[in-house]
Amino acid sequence: MVTSAIKNKLHHTCLAVQDSFTSIVEQFEAMSVESFALRAADYRDVGTRLLNALNGITGTLPHDMESDHIPIFNEITPSMVSRLASAGLKAYLCAKGSYNSHASILTRALNLVAIANIPLLISSLQDDDLLIVDGDEGKLVINPDEETLDYYAQKVQVEELLRQKLAELKASVSQTADGEPISLYANIGVPEELEGISNLGCDGIGLFRTEFLYISRQSLPSEDEQYDIYRQMAERMAPTPVTIRTFDLGGDKLAPFGLGAAEENPYLGNRGIRFSLAHHEVFRTQLRAILRASAFGKIKVMFPMIIDVEDFLEAKHVFNHCQEELYSEGLAFDSSIELGAMIEIPSAALGADALAKECDFLSLGTNDLAQYTLAVDRNNDNVSRYYIQHHPAVLSLIRQSVLSAAKYKIPISVCGEMASTPHYIPLLLGLGVQEFSISPNNYYMVKAIVKKCDSKLSQIISRFDLSCSVPEIENLFFKELKHYYQL
Ligand code: PEP
Ligand code: MG
Repeated sequence: MVTSAIKNKLHHTCLAVQDSFTSIVEQFEAMSVESFALRAADYRDVGTRLLNALNGITGTLPHDMESDHIPIFNEITPSMVSRLASAGLKAYLCAKGSYNSHASILTRALNLVAIANIPLLISSLQDDDLLIVDGDEGKLVINPDEETLDYYAQKVQVEELLRQKLAELKASVSQTADGEPISLYANIGVPEELEGISNLGCDGIGLFRTEFLYISRQSLPSEDEQYDIYRQMAERMAPTPVTIRTFDLGGDKLAPFGLGAAEENPYLGNRGIRFSLAHHEVFRTQLRAILRASAFGKIKVMFPMIIDVEDFLEAKHVFNHCQEELYSEGLAFDSSIELGAMIEIPSAALGADALAKECDFLSLGTNDLAQYTLAVDRNNDNVSRYYIQHHPAVLSLIRQSVLSAAKYKIPISVCGEMASTPHYIPLLLGLGVQEFSISPNNYYMVKAIVKKCDSKLSQIISRFDLSCSVPEIENLFFKELKHYYQL
């Protein structure tokens, strides 16, 4: 089947594998004898491995790995990261990769240490080398001497002390030095993080990346499975809100087999809300699960990759339909659940006025906003020097979105990695952002910086406009704003 797709349809190999296995999986799933239908999972698995191998993604974990072993990958996916964490490993190395990929975001969230994009170094390593992975400095120490070992032992202790010191901020109010309240939420990727997040003392969950529920397994979680997870989160975080983002599949979070064909250009393809609207069953299953869970706490829903207000209204229409369905089935849900859109595509930022008029809240996905504004693949380290989140074009779109939200008196948060990056906090506050959704590991650090900031920032930032160059902006917030973000 694969060879005939290559020969007859002139498909490239990956596309041929993807399409062939999708079709086999669908045939098995449609079989009425259950034991045959269950074989679909085996084919899905073989297809995934074949495709990974073709893409140079090496990867299942060897069974004899111990927690102080450091596996080495050519390329790593979010699902592999989640497997490393559940296997108790602490660090890994990767020949490819970039800071803002979903695998990296999940790596940080799960407290793993990693260094990526070091192909030459990796090729020089031997199996028995003793390694220290210094994630802070992006430094790999190979076969350290006694002195270096002592230095790192001390560094670990100092960091632990700093962590304890920052954690003393738990009970303090989140506000700037001149008393402006700033809401601080946490980002969550996998349910295992809930325990830690519920102890942070944060204002709730500002982004739950639900697609991680999907990509770390071979099949779609059922309505009941999703309901259990969402309900547990809502109950645990109540009375604070849990903002559930509907599946953001596509891009580097590829859908498992059986749901759509491979795409030449997945980041510009059927990603996020487009994927959900093209797979109504998947979308409705998720929305029903969310709605049922909303009876047990404060849940908000937001849609990823919205391009404009029509896109949002189409998603809202499906949501309303699910509400009606649940109502007629006599199932309980929160009828005043808030609906929001993510601003992560320039067209959404430019059309933020229209969106703000229809949405209950907005959330700025700056990781993608930078990627799409600057046309730079956030996963491709070859072009990482162009991935400038503080580029004036990106900042203008942030400012425009914040102004639209203020005009229609709805909240707007930043949930991209900028909100978790120390030197961007004063900048975002100066642009008028009052809500941040942060990687849990950086939560107290961001809180400490917020406490040092003040209203002078908005005057300083008002000097910025689109005519500023990147060096001018860097000069502004690396030099003038340094005392705000240096702890
Ligand atoms: C973003 O794009 O900034 C965002 C929060 O979404 P994700 O990183 O999951 O694409
Ligand atoms: Mg995004």
